[in-house]
Amino acid sequence: MQIKRLRLTGFKSFVEPTELRIEPGLTGVVGPNGCGKSNLLEAIRWVMGESSPKSMRGGGMEDVIFAGTSQRPPRDFAEVAIHCDTEGGVVAGLSDASEGRELEIIRRIERGTGSAYRANGRDVRAKDVALIFADAATGAHSPALVSQGKIANVIAAKPTDRRAMLEEAAGIAGLHVRRKDAEQK
Ligand code: ATP
Ligand code: MG
Repeated sequence: MQIKRLRLTGFKSFVEPTELRIEPGLTGVVGPNGCGKSNLLEAIRWVMGESSPKSMRGGGMEDVIFAGTSQRPPRDFAEVAIHCDTEGGVVAGLSDASEGRELEIIRRIERGTGSAYRANGRDVRAKDVALIFADAATGAHSPALVSQGKIANVIAAKPTDRRAMLEEAAGIAGLHVRRKDAEQK
């Protein structure tokens, strides 16, 4: 699974629609303090199903919506689209929506109505999205996404938390999601 493009609209400091192409190989994001580098990483985590406002550096989920400045009014919604190449891999739970190699996930939040997800144009649940990326070992909680200041947390992590990180890295986290799902049925 490879991220090809990212499009942000009204997400945190990205007020106007902003599209980034991510080429193969190493990508660096540089810029002055506060220009939005960490917000980009958070956008990736958010569209992959992040449900904790705390790991988005906010108090509530709606805090990802552009809050306005002295020159610009706040926005009513935030939207992030991520375009991936599935590289021929099977995409869990989306058999008919993921024909071919292209996979586009869109997450949108409007004030007062919560989040909605679409996968290749079809409405899907947060759970489906979490599963896609859990299986790809690239999900919102994957160790592939390391937030600023989180290295120290890895070192200080409790054994159970460290085990969860290793399970993500080994690509078996998706099995836990499925087990939880089965237990609830
Ligand atoms: P550093 O180099 O210090 O790590 P950075 O490039 O990672 O900086 P970010 O933390 O991504 O910067 O961006 C912070 C900016 O995003 C701040 O200016 C903050 O006001 C803005 N911001 C965050 N959330 C919102 C929001 N909901 N609405 C408007 N602006 C926001
Ligand atoms: Mg930062």
